[in-house]
Amino acid sequence: MHEMSIAIGIVNIAKDEAKKAKIDSFSSIDLEIGTLAGIEFDSLDFVWEVAVKDTVLENAKKRVHKVEAKARCSDCGHEYPISFIHDNCPKCGSFIKIILQGKELRVKSLEYS
Ligand SMILES: [Zn+2]
Repeated sequence: MHEMSIAIGIVNIAKDEAKKAKIDSFSSIDLEIGTLAGIEFDSLDFVWEVAVKDTVLENAKKRVHKVEAKARCSDCGHEYPISFIHDNCPKCGSFIKIILQGKELRVKSLEYS
């Protein structure tokens, strides 16, 4: 499953950070995930427990911050929220746009206590 490799990637980032900080475990992790990042939020929750087992994230509380996707129309400059990559401008109908946000997938913060 795609989300499993994402989760393992996140665990690896946390492992590196733990090594740098010389700690054994984190108490929480904040993730920023865009609605266009291609991640099923439910699937990520589903695989998470398996992915973090016996790792520095095993007991970490996961908080996911959803970033709603937004685009700017290249023709009229209108900024609008998008649900799908092929959505067009609600003002002028143009399909040409710049994605401003919504493709993020990053670890925002890690905390340990
Ligand atoms: Zn437009």
